Amino acid sequence: MNKPRILFWHRKDLRIFDNQALIKAFSLSNAITSIYILDQNYSHDFNANSRAWFLGNSLQELGNNWKKMGSRLLIEEGDPVLKIPQLAKTIDAKFVFWNKSIEPYEINRDLQLKKILKEQNIQVIETWDHLLVEPIKIFSGNNKPYSVYGPFYKNLKAKMNLLGLYNQDKVIFQFKDIDNKLKENKKINSSDSVLKKFLKNIKFNGSNICPCRPGENAAEKLLENFINEKKIYLYNSARDFPSQNGTSFLSASLRFGTISIRKVWNATLNLNSDFENQENYLSIETWQKELIWREFYQHCLFHFPELEKGPYRKKWNKFPWQNNNEWFQHWSNGETGVPIVDAAMRQLNSTGWMHNRCRMIVASFLVKDLMCNWQMGEKKFMETLVDGDLAANNGGWQWSASSGMDPKPLRIFNPYTQAKKFDPICEYIKSWIPELSKVSNSDLLNVEISNLEKNNYSSPIVNHNIQQRLFKSLYAEI
Ligand SMILES: Cc1cc2nc3c(=O)[nH]c(=O)nc-3n(C[C@H](O)[C@H](O)[C@H](O)COP(=O)(O)OP(=O)(O)OC[C@H]3O[C@@H](n4cnc5c(N)ncnc54)[C@H](O)[C@@H]3O)c2cc1C
Repeated sequence: MNKPRILFWHRKDLRIFDNQALIKAFSLSNAITSIYILDQNYSHDFNANSRAWFLGNSLQELGNNWKKMGSRLLIEEGDPVLKIPQLAKTIDAKFVFWNKSIEPYEINRDLQLKKILKEQNIQVIETWDHLLVEPIKIFSGNNKPYSVYGPFYKNLKAKMNLLGLYNQDKVIFQFKDIDNKLKENKKINSSDSVLKKFLKNIKFNGSNICPCRPGENAAEKLLENFINEKKIYLYNSARDFPSQNGTSFLSASLRFGTISIRKVWNATLNLNSDFENQENYLSIETWQKELIWREFYQHCLFHFPELEKGPYRKKWNKFPWQNNNEWFQHWSNGETGVPIVDAAMRQLNSTGWMHNRCRMIVASFLVKDLMCNWQMGEKKFMETLVDGDLAANNGGWQWSASSGMDPKPLRIFNPYTQAKKFDPICEYIKSWIPELSKVSNSDLLNVEISNLEKNNYSSPIVNHNIQQRLFKSLYAEI
């Protein structure tokens, strides 16, 4: 008897290895054809040039991998609610498989799609893949979703310890392509040109310097590099210094699913028996904590979809934001006259990526010094970041704006103190602001404005101390 044909829909899982829905599909049948859709209603995946570059190149590699395994990856653009049922019909699929998503738009789209496919007698099989633990499987003591990171971390870590080592090395896929008659089908053959056109239209200038690298192969290498070159053992101290390259650069790979979160977590477990001293142990644990921050924000957005639209703490709706567009443009272009802020924004604009410490500094500066609504910064990041992800970005911005789930009521970063602490020899600042390369570190860190101005660098657009006092008084009123 012929095995049933399956349509496999890749979304935020642009890989073959340890892809939960793909493993499940393969256990049912090897007659699998896959598809990726450039969703016209959901441009989050490619509305930043950097993400379009990451996506396009990851798709190219994924398509080659499907070919090597005897089948194909079709690429279409349009509305998945129309495209998936059409294609399933064309290839006579009996099943459609995909991995579940947590974003509000995707959840609603999938619900609509399931209804339509059911009417066509096509069965949908969905799996959780993007997370360590499904959001519906972890709740606080009173059976509610977590809204504070600390207890979430403790519970999830305990769960991960129970689950133990994860290993998916054994599955070797060999798929069966569509039959010869369908191979001639025009619709199916137009797929190659969709990707070609997409790749041709990419306008990202930072592809050589972006530290995140597209594709499954590159993601594995990034992980290997982080683990084997022992960067993970120094993470606890190195992660805060933007000039040190002390982090993994895996954020875009995790966002697009070119690597499995289980594989990444697994890599930290293999090391636990190998630690040489307390610092090594702490470093592994700190990195795990960051992976759990990722998890936390994904779970939060799943349970509290309203986060996408505004502040978690409603009183922030009453804050009298100034939203000065000129200031916002200065911030956006890295021209505020505050060296650490400008260096970070220039890193973002050039490479599509920014160091985490600097993300916190520039976010605090935009919100607490320039008094722009944090959603303006959230949007700019989504338009630029290679790892731009609704849950992580919204979580990061709400944390920085003090409008999120973080129990600390108000947090204001002093950009000058931050620079002294985390870029003490100004390596990072000077690498992104060449006009300051000749200024002495002490003039730079002590903000000798006249010496900065002599080198064609503008004076600060605002005074941090004055703005901080103003912000606090406005905050007191809400
Ligand atoms: C304002 C703001 C916006 C942010 N926007 C995004 C975003 O759009 N996409 C995104 O992936 N991260 C975002 N972050 C989190 C963090 O800055 C990046 O994940 C990190 O800098 C990526 O570098 P890395 O891969 O080398 O991280 P590593 O330090 O190696 O950490 C490993 C992984 O853990 C996860 N992670 C680390 N820190 C965080 C965090 N604070 N929150 C959530 N996940 C984390 C990421 O998946 C990361 O790849 C944001 C942080 C802030 C403060």
